[in-house]
Amino acid sequence: MTQASPVIVATYAEIALKGRNRTVFLRKLLNNIRTMLKNEPLGEIRHVESRLLIEVADTDAAARVSRRLHDVFGLQWVSPAVPVPRDELDAEIAADQAAGREPRLTLLCDAACGLARENPGEALSFKVATRRSDRTFALGSPDINRIVGRAVHLDTGLPGRMQDPDLKVNVLVMKDQALVFHAKETAHGGLPAGSSGRVMVLMSGGIDSPVAAWLMMRRGCRPEFVHFFSGRTAAEADTAKIEELVRILAGYFPRPLALHLVPVVPYEQRAIGAVPDSYDMVMFRRFMFKTAAKLASLNKCKALVTGDSLGQVASQTIHNLGAIAPDVRMPVLRPLIGMDKIEITAWSRKVGLFDTSILPYRDCCSIRSPKPVLTARPRDLMNFSRAMDLDAAVREAALAATEIRIDGPSHGAETRPD
Ligand code: ATP
Ligand code: MG
Repeated sequence: MTQASPVIVATYAEIALKGRNRTVFLRKLLNNIRTMLKNEPLGEIRHVESRLLIEVADTDAAARVSRRLHDVFGLQWVSPAVPVPRDELDAEIAADQAAGREPRLTLLCDAACGLARENPGEALSFKVATRRSDRTFALGSPDINRIVGRAVHLDTGLPGRMQDPDLKVNVLVMKDQALVFHAKETAHGGLPAGSSGRVMVLMSGGIDSPVAAWLMMRRGCRPEFVHFFSGRTAAEADTAKIEELVRILAGYFPRPLALHLVPVVPYEQRAIGAVPDSYDMVMFRRFMFKTAAKLASLNKCKALVTGDSLGQVASQTIHNLGAIAPDVRMPVLRPLIGMDKIEITAWSRKVGLFDTSILPYRDCCSIRSPKPVLTARPRDLMNFSRAMDLDAAVREAALAATEIRIDGPSHGAETRPD
């Protein structure tokens, strides 16, 4: 018997729809898999019948590789497969046919029954779906479906259902082996990391903005982060929590991510006496947007991303969202705009950010005026901007920014430039 290496089967998400760009997206996805799993013993990655077959050279690593593949954007589902060597399968079929019996397909049936017995998601019905990439195989797909389906039914008692079954047991017959797997372990879908260009994320220490970053990363964006801190230095503000959030997000990206730490002192010095208390919140946000846009241009980012959710707090009324930075010319992406806090929190938990997001941190946004204006007028904001020389504050803040690069949990340590 040939001992086959474990194989993880994965399908890709929207890439299938990408028409002529499909090969570009697919190449990116394969590169990302290789880079994000560079410490794992990956073997060949084959592309068969619109599936990726990822060989793992070491049996013990298979479960870990499968888990890690869930973090690769662009994959729709990821499922470890049971490999069945073709030489054994073929020998049994030949023997059964020589004896005038219907082929038993014992190895395929055993593998399929094993998967069905695990019964992921407590299925109430099943279906066997066979594809043959090797058309010379002695049996056709309907025969394989019938024989394996009967075995699963007898073994588990589950009824077969052709339309919309709860559990799909897939059989893929190839030249050297057949694979048996179910398609139950869903991954995050989306587009391959880095396929949609760079964005600058305004990152607070809260729950929302890290989720906003993650959602845009899932759409293929490469994020850079800007965080505004109060106090004279980043060390004094203790931005460890922000760095940890970026580190978690970097786990979903094949390369280290940049975090720009920007002091708010240039705003505060100039705003005193020039900006009334009730306008401080919106003016401060205007300062953040304009500084973020400047850093975005300097770093080739094409859009800003925020964690705004309509009406969540005073600064996020529809009036204020429109008034804060009409002169910022790049798109501002707000993936959470229509979500409520419960939905955002569910995402935060699901992707592993929540426990860090709720650690205490004194964000500079939360120490602003307690009663901010709800319907700021752009004309007033322009006047205050001139009075305090906002452009100068933005220039000073951008100059004072420091950048650190942060690698994901499984890659290595963060690096601070000297
Ligand atoms: P979060 O929205 O991340 O949970 P929050 O709700 O406390 O934090 P808000 O005051 O609602 O933050 O701010 C709205 C958005 O403004 C944030 O989602 C984020 O994009 C941006 N923002 C707030 N504070 C900062 C900061 N200190 N540095 C960079 N961006 C910030
Ligand atoms: Mg918020």
